[in-house]
Formats: sequence, structure tokens, C-alpha cells
Amino acid sequence: MLNQSFARMDADIIKSIPLPRTPQEDEIIWHYDRKGLYSVKSGYQLALKIKSFTGWQNIWKLNLPGKIKIFVWKAAKNLLPTAENLWRRKILQEPICTICKAGREDMFHALMECKLARKIWRCTDLEAAVQTVRREDMLSTIHSLMRKGAKSEIDYVASIWWATWHARNKLLFEGKKPDPMETVARAKAILDAYQSMQFKEQESPRSIKEKKTQRWNPPPSTKLKINADATVHAESQMAGLRAVIRNS
Ligand SMILES: [Zn+2]
Repeated sequence: MLNQSFARMDADIIKSIPLPRTPQEDEIIWHYDRKGLYSVKSGYQLALKIKSFTGWQNIWKLNLPGKIKIFVWKAAKNLLPTAENLWRRKILQEPICTICKAGREDMFHALMECKLARKIWRCTDLEAAVQTVRREDMLSTIHSLMRKGAKSEIDYVASIWWATWHARNKLLFEGKKPDPMETVARAKAILDAYQSMQFKEQESPRSIKEKKTQRWNPPPSTKLKINADATVHAESQMAGLRAVIRNS
């Protein structure tokens, strides 16, 4: 019984531990390097990977509806059809913004700098904060907003980005001039509806039960977590034990 529950708990991890066929002395291996040896280079590369991973994790941690999170992720990955991206793919003749014609249309331009974006920001109480943001790629923009203590506001900012992008598309493809006030109201309404629903779900006992069935979670930074699997062969009176110890 116990064995089964352990196996279920971390089956994938257990499978990936290579076991020696003959007994060997334990040794510490730096498994980010092929030879198992630590080098500054591999340490540095790992630090970069962790930094970038944490960056992407921050997007998924936002308290936003899935469609807005996916939009932010696509914007940060530069996957959306901006004039610059379409020009790179030789679909457009030039990378200039079709709406204001005042500059290259990348994600930052479309969501922060463009005439239309500025009109929308003016209808929010975040205009001053947004104006201080340096011109960067969208992932760095999200981080600088978070660093500036606007973490609680980033959900709102992301909703405005999403609504701005939709307003742009309406203007470009349907010729409908967007009303900036309405765009902001739409973003707010979607965000409020989602967050109040989240709040209700957190209250319900069902969601507590669902949370218990979550997959492996890292331990807090001061602790280590052990996942183990053991098996006993009754006839030959042999036992085997495997464990993975991980920090945060
Ligand atoms: Zn523009």
C-alpha cells in the first residue's frame, strides 16, 4: 500500500534515477554538467536559466483569466502579429505602425507608446506610472513594473494591454474607432468578474479538496523535500530504497 502511494507520488522522477548494478560509494554530482563536475560556466548558465524561468513563472502567477495570461505570454515572447513581425516575415513592406505612423510597431509601441495606447492609458489612474517605464521588451517591462512596487497593479496593466490590443485590431480590421473609456471599462469588468469569481472559489471547500491533489511542489527555501520509493521482495528477503532530495 505504502509502496504504491510513493510510486504514484513521484513515478516520473523515480524512473529517471540511474541505479548502479554493483554497490558504490556515494558522491556528490553536479548534474548540470555532463561529467558531473561543477564549473563557473555551467553555474552561470544555470543561474541564467533559473532567472528566465522565474520570469516566465511570474506571468503564469498573475491573477488573470487564461486568455489574458496567454496574451501576455505571447506578447512577452513577441509572437503577436505586430507590423514589425509582419515586416520581418515579408508580409508588410515596412515595420511602421499603421495607426499613428510615428514609429516602428513592436509590442512596446502597440501597447505603451502608440497614439491609441496613450489615449487608453490616459483614461486610467496608471498613466503616470506607465510613463516612467523604459522602452524594453515586454518581459522586461513586466519585471520593471513589478520591481517598481506595482505588482498588485500588474493584473490591471495586463488587462489594459489585452484590451488595447483588441481595440487596435478592431480599428485595423473592422475600421471601428475605439472609445478609450469603453476599452478601459471592458478591461476592468473582465478583471473584476474573474477576480471576484476566484475569491468565491477560494472560499468553497471543493477547491480546498482539489488543491490537495496538486502535483509536486518545491519546499520552502529553508527546508529539503524527500520523495522516496521502496520495495520489498518477500521470497528473497531483499529490499530496495530510492530517494530524491531536493531543495527549493
Ligand atoms: Zn502607433
